[in-house]
Amino acid sequence: MSKITDLEFVLPSGEEEKKREDQVYDVIIVGGGPAGLTAALYAGRSLLSTLLLEKMLPGGQAATTDRIENYPGFPGGISGADLMQRMEEQAREFGVEIGSGEVTRLEVDNGIFKLYTDEGISLGRTVILASGARERKLGVPGEEEYRGRGVSYCATCDGAFYKGKQVVVVGGGDSAVEEGLYLTRFAGKVTLIHRRDQLRAVKTAQERAFANPKMAFVWDTVVEEIMGTRMVENLRLKNVKTGQISELAADGVFIYAGMEPNSEFLQGLVEMDSSGYVISDENMATSLPGVFAAGDLRKKSLRQVSTAVGDGATAAMAAERYLSERHNR
Ligand code: NAP
Repeated sequence: MSKITDLEFVLPSGEEEKKREDQVYDVIIVGGGPAGLTAALYAGRSLLSTLLLEKMLPGGQAATTDRIENYPGFPGGISGADLMQRMEEQAREFGVEIGSGEVTRLEVDNGIFKLYTDEGISLGRTVILASGARERKLGVPGEEEYRGRGVSYCATCDGAFYKGKQVVVVGGGDSAVEEGLYLTRFAGKVTLIHRRDQLRAVKTAQERAFANPKMAFVWDTVVEEIMGTRMVENLRLKNVKTGQISELAADGVFIYAGMEPNSEFLQGLVEMDSSGYVISDENMATSLPGVFAAGDLRKKSLRQVSTAVGDGATAAMAAERYLSERHNR
């Protein structure tokens, strides 16, 4: 198997796309975050012909995280973009093909899986679903209207625009607290608004946030509306205990209200829980034979880069076993 040394992400030519459509891959991986890239590394290293399909650039949500402190092997932490670039390089070292395209439909025909993307159709003997999760919207007036004009879901991408400004972070989980702390590097003040009176985030991050003089907290409160003229200017808030309505001036709002699985294209094909997370067993096998799930898309108790990596490795090895039992590979 030839090694690919050019690590740049290159879009396939029409000819390559055609070749891809004719080939039946041993494994097709949907999604290029930590779970997908690890599955790709393990599948490639097992000499399985492997295609990874990613709708954007490989790296997933982890690539937009400023600093990852709890991925083992990197004392002092590592930037999410660096870590994910290393994972991509390592997968490519084992001959994995990385293609662009958002999978919108999955069909099975005579034991062969057909994956439809906006770029064409790819065929595989097994599929590893690693399409992750996306940010949950608050669903309040102004959120969509001011997206990119003060409303953001990515502090690493947009934080630097808020030097010396008043910024609001919504949510009380790890993302809200860690990204809020990151924003204190730029903003004059970061106000975290949480719907309860206790954070959900890990205790060490909470301690750092409470000790940071640039951070303020508004408890038991939800955002009812995001308002402005050309850009965000203020928020209408509601205290959920007293019902009191107030306004807060803000130049930017960073929303971290949790995640939703990217599993719409799997409706009716694999078993899911009521929130749309894919149910899989300890080998990452879903209810559809030959289809495995890994990472944030799965119903699981801990969604971290470290657990996504474990899922990816397990799914690839399970796919290899499935192939050797059914396809003599
Ligand atoms: P999360 O843990 O689900 O937290 C979402 C937060 O948003 C919660 O505090 C929730 O409030 C609040 N929320 C949900 N819907 C809301 C709404 N409509 N209006 C207002 N607030 C709302 O999500 P996350 O922080 O994005 O983290 C996702 C996963 O990634 C978690 O498993 C997390 O541990 C992991 N993660 C880990 C790290 C790390 O280890 N360094 C960093 C980032 C993320 P309630 O608390 O009341 O439910």
